[in-house]
Amino acid sequence: MNAKPIDPRRLDVAALAAARGELAGEWPLAALDRLAGSVLGTVPEDSPIHWQAEGDQRPVTGGEPELWLHLTAQACVNMRCQRCLGALAVPLDLDRWVRFVRDAEQAEALDAELEDDVLELQRYMDLRELVEDELLLALPLVPRHDACPQPLPLGDSAAAAPPAEAAPERPHPFAALAQLKKKPDEA
Ligand SMILES: [Zn+2]
Repeated sequence: MNAKPIDPRRLDVAALAAARGELAGEWPLAALDRLAGSVLGTVPEDSPIHWQAEGDQRPVTGGEPELWLHLTAQACVNMRCQRCLGALAVPLDLDRWVRFVRDAEQAEALDAELEDDVLELQRYMDLRELVEDELLLALPLVPRHDACPQPLPLGDSAAAAPPAEAAPERPHPFAALAQLKKKPDEA
């Protein structure tokens, strides 16, 4: 076998699905800047994000087979607890099926209808962008400890000042979501 290694950032989804091919790898958090901007870091520190992608096609009677990508990823990120403002480890364990169709309008209609994501098939796709999109959607909107390790300040906790070592302001999670929603129009 002398197959050319597949570039996940220039992935031919149709070919991967037809071959029922698999690929896997890992990326440092810093390579996913939208995700990096939404969390405090990974746990343990600087641990990479592991990902796997598997192409599949499902036969359709009297038609072209459906193209699917099974996407999994594992990471653990630190987020700021919205109650005590301490760091909170959030394990991310992504397991998504994404269907690809050739027509943009069909993709939009099916995406609204089906629970699985439906995207328009492009000649090449950046798998890293897709993994990052899915990880951002998997982040809790209001991260909170089940039980905060430190006693809460007395009185209105919302008025409490953050600890002195607090990280610089992060973009609001909704800002990242709004950006995500804008993306398909720009493509
Ligand atoms: Zn907490």
